[in-house]
Amino acid sequence: MSYNEQLNTSKRVLMGPGPSDVHPRVLQAMSTPLIGHLDPEFVQIMDEVKLMVQHTFQTVNYLTFVVSAPGSAGMETCLVNLLEPGDEAVICIHGVFGGRMADIAERCGATVHRIEAPWGEPIDPVQVKKVLENCDPKLVAIVHAETSTGVLQPLDEIGKITKDAGALFVVDAVTSYCGVPVKVDEWGIDAIYSGTQKCLSAPPGLSPVSFSDRAVAAMDFRKTKVQSWFLDLSMIKNYWSGAKRAYHHTAPVSSIFALREAYRIVLEEGLENRFERHYRNHQLLKDELEPLGFEFIVQPKYRLPMLNAVKLPEGINEAEVRRKLLDDYNIEVGGGLGAFAGKIWRVGLMGESSSPNHVHMLSAALKKLI
Ligand SMILES: *Cc1c(COP(=O)(O)O)cnc(C)c1O
Repeated sequence: MSYNEQLNTSKRVLMGPGPSDVHPRVLQAMSTPLIGHLDPEFVQIMDEVKLMVQHTFQTVNYLTFVVSAPGSAGMETCLVNLLEPGDEAVICIHGVFGGRMADIAERCGATVHRIEAPWGEPIDPVQVKKVLENCDPKLVAIVHAETSTGVLQPLDEIGKITKDAGALFVVDAVTSYCGVPVKVDEWGIDAIYSGTQKCLSAPPGLSPVSFSDRAVAAMDFRKTKVQSWFLDLSMIKNYWSGAKRAYHHTAPVSSIFALREAYRIVLEEGLENRFERHYRNHQLLKDELEPLGFEFIVQPKYRLPMLNAVKLPEGINEAEVRRKLLDDYNIEVGGGLGAFAGKIWRVGLMGESSSPNHVHMLSAALKKLI
């Protein structure tokens, strides 16, 4: 390909850690002719999207909207608005993304207390309790679905411990959202962010977020300005809500069109049905891959249905087989990240990519390749 030729990418089957496959209805919505981002019709679309974000996060939080940037920017939005220089933050790290949160919190000038778990295991609430007895943090942050390890982190107990300690509970739901239950109000979550390219099956580049009244109060009590102009919620909130919408930045209009359609598809299916489908196809993948010699690295109790971390059969060159899957079968699976690089695969069954056809395409190809 060169720049004087029309784009002509291959038709891939997306079974990695995101982006996932996107429904044609979503792509069609994205090609809707542009309207202005302050057009009353677009303001109404923003309001509709906000309602759908609330519904899927299972929250009534007023400050619920979509950050115009990917999941990592949602992460940064939560941390830069809640942390000020001199604050303490407890960050739970059981994979790559917890480490990223600790990095951001330090850049905010916070003193970070790290709680770590071995890769492939969840964080132990007992450990969180112990650390909270010896410090006075503004917040405790944790990843719900650790995409680098395939671990589903139970949140109820840690949420309760955090609340008892008077800290805010911050959750990364980038991969879990719309694939397993995420109950913001019931679980006492104060700040949460997700992404669009995982189980929501919209194009990448946006981050749904929500903040409790306690989190909003903490922001109102800040003594210093938020270090990031673009992510400062005291300004963005007047763009996404309120009677008079004030220009802040130009929303990615086409991406919001696509997101609206992706949400409509989620709500048509129903959250419970969607969770059940993700679980069913995960079981099917397990039934197909284990006889081929693949081993799931996470204990059954903590396995993510949408992100399957598997060790390859002995003696197989993982990078070579992964490349052949892409070149010969147009199937993308993910390699390992961080400590797991070169050691595991991450097979994504997210949103539109969570289907029996996807599982069977992969297992049929693997039977030819290994
Ligand atoms: C993908 C992911 C992110 C980052 O999202 P981007 O859209 O790539 O910025 C953050 N946390 C988790 C758990 C993820 O899986």
